[in-house]
Amino acid sequence: MSETDHEVVAVDVYNDKIRHLLEPSGHHPWSSRISFHRLNIKHDPRLEGLIKSSDLTINLAAICTPADYNTRPLDTIYSNFIDALPVVKYCSENQKRLIHFSTCEVYGKTIGSFLPKDHPLRLEPEFYVLKEDASPCIFGSIEKQRWSYACAKQLIERLIYAEGAENGLDFTIVRPFNWIGPRMDFIPGIDGPSEGVPRVLACFSNNLLRREPLQLVDGGLSQRTFVYIKDAIEAVLLMIDNSARANGHIFNVGNPNNEVTVRQLGEMMTEVYSKVSGEPPLEVPTIDVSSKEFYGEGYDDSDKRIPDMTIINKQLGWNPKTSLWDLLESTLTYQHRTYAEAIKRAIAKPFAS
Ligand code: UDP
Repeated sequence: MSETDHEVVAVDVYNDKIRHLLEPSGHHPWSSRISFHRLNIKHDPRLEGLIKSSDLTINLAAICTPADYNTRPLDTIYSNFIDALPVVKYCSENQKRLIHFSTCEVYGKTIGSFLPKDHPLRLEPEFYVLKEDASPCIFGSIEKQRWSYACAKQLIERLIYAEGAENGLDFTIVRPFNWIGPRMDFIPGIDGPSEGVPRVLACFSNNLLRREPLQLVDGGLSQRTFVYIKDAIEAVLLMIDNSARANGHIFNVGNPNNEVTVRQLGEMMTEVYSKVSGEPPLEVPTIDVSSKEFYGEGYDDSDKRIPDMTIINKQLGWNPKTSLWDLLESTLTYQHRTYAEAIKRAIAKPFAS
């Protein structure tokens, strides 16, 4: 909003996370260019009119926290597939452009993960690098309900692609690879339910703020690549502003240079948090927990996620810039500034009076 002159019509069931952006004009130079409509996209007659009056629709609506995939698989499938249908339909019927948010999870597990542990082919990029136009989608069995999300996302991607092929829908599909930064998810018991389980950045931030050990699921051996939210937003802005180069494409948006195991992420966050908060790390900074204990029955995991950058590079000239250390430094500075006092009060409360 600050770098462009676009107008935004925001639609959601809540607006608590963007309330500060909706304050009456004067606060931001662009305040008059954003409006908010509280409605549910799955059954609201106003949706088609809003899509018709806009040049572009960006669909971000989804349940996208892994703790929900195996415990609320129906809500996960409905929100990621069924509830997205009206948006796709109205864009297609009214010849409006759609940028749909999917997930890197549609790749599922890597081919290499099925090879024996020390097999030399595991080190070959074609056995693990994830390419939009070449890699298969490999999910676990149906009782591993973790994959309900990936499967729903894959089907909506296929539907959008088919709308493009058969009805000429102008679409772009975004596959985010672990975008992280300030304001992501919620801190349980502060700005979200105390029993809620957010994604790993917020889980580990919560542990650090409360001076509890970080919980490493199944040894913290899974690997992820993390990209800073500001870098990722630049990629989306390029898609918005370059329709001819973005339409008809699926884009990985991630940072292949920022790969760590979850254990290494925990260690790095512990070090960075100690630096930004001035508090010494715990003597035992991490503990191991089984996935069954942490997420319940039906959890499974993606082993490794390295995005191939060829297509986004060629089409949009985009490259991520921020290192993992730098993005954790700015994010944990924000977490400390925003939550440390509230956590102290919450911890003190049970003993008050
Ligand atoms: N994880 C963990 N401890 C936590 C939260 C998550 O070890 O407190 C692990 C989780 O099992 C997965 C990785 O961290 O291997 C990333 O999880 P996240 O929920 O951020 O999303 P994902 O990348 O799996 O979609």
